Amino acid sequence: DVVVVGSANADLVVRVERHPAPGETVLGSELAVHPGGKGANQAVAAARLGARVALLGRVGADQHGRLLRESLEHDGVDHGHLHDTPAASGIAMIAVGPQGDNSIIVAPGANARVTEGDVLQAAPLLRSAPVVSLQLEIPLPAVLAAARLARRAVVNLSPAAPVPDELLALCDPLVVNEHEAALLLGVPGEADRQAKSLLALGPRSVVITLGADGAVVAEDGAVHAVPSPRVAAVDTTGAGDAFTGALAWRLAVGEPLTAAAAFAARVGAAAVRRPGAQDSYPTMAEVEDL
Ligand code: ADP
Repeated sequence: DVVVVGSANADLVVRVERHPAPGETVLGSELAVHPGGKGANQAVAAARLGARVALLGRVGADQHGRLLRESLEHDGVDHGHLHDTPAASGIAMIAVGPQGDNSIIVAPGANARVTEGDVLQAAPLLRSAPVVSLQLEIPLPAVLAAARLARRAVVNLSPAAPVPDELLALCDPLVVNEHEAALLLGVPGEADRQAKSLLALGPRSVVITLGADGAVVAEDGAVHAVPSPRVAAVDTTGAGDAFTGALAWRLAVGEPLTAAAAFAARVGAAAVRRPGAQDSYPTMAEVEDL
């Protein structure tokens, strides 16, 4: 149903009493290592709901690479196009403060080695999928090549970065959170207006996720609000990736954009009820129970 072209990172998580200042050392909790990275997260989110998913990307031939592969395998994600690379696997060093405030350093490692060639080599796979799901944690030439081959490209412009007009024009939808929307447009603003302004940049459709407030969808000049169920939020890590993975799947099975976004908002809400990223992602039964 969905081919995700993107990143896989090992998340190295340490809880701290406070974040270290430059030059300072603080002692933290025991290290926890979790599978993460926006690409792998999207793939797992969709697969756990029942989608058939493949992840194209790169990991190192190291311990983290094995962890990432095992977690994809566990959720039934096809990792035949996840190549072993002579570089360290991507990692994210995540310090979590007492209020749940994160500071994060990402070392892209193998993710930085994903090339246009990798994507072109998998052209038949990408062309055969109804939806290709993308983010910006791998080099732009690979993202652009994948968007060109896709029948439909769902593009989460995250981490937010300036991108060529050609990529914008291929986004259907462009998916961003409020923060990324403000960065792209250069000004903060009310979600409806931001969505219309983003649409004017050239994508075929736009989705802005709004945390507990759900999302707005802009298509053909019209904007629709999509609510999120009320839940007790414990940890919002990876909520946007869960949203995008779920959205990609529903679009792949032919659902209209606004209905797909409403479903994705339920998946995002389910994902914030438990700690972690992939660990928190719901099954279909859990989404239906919401
Ligand atoms: P990101 O993780 O990229 O910052 P958001 O915070 O907008 O993205 O979250 C993505 C989706 O997850 C939202 O559209 C919403 O459906 C769901 N979500 C996030 N936070 C909450 C929350 N506190 N309560 C309910 N749903 C939430």
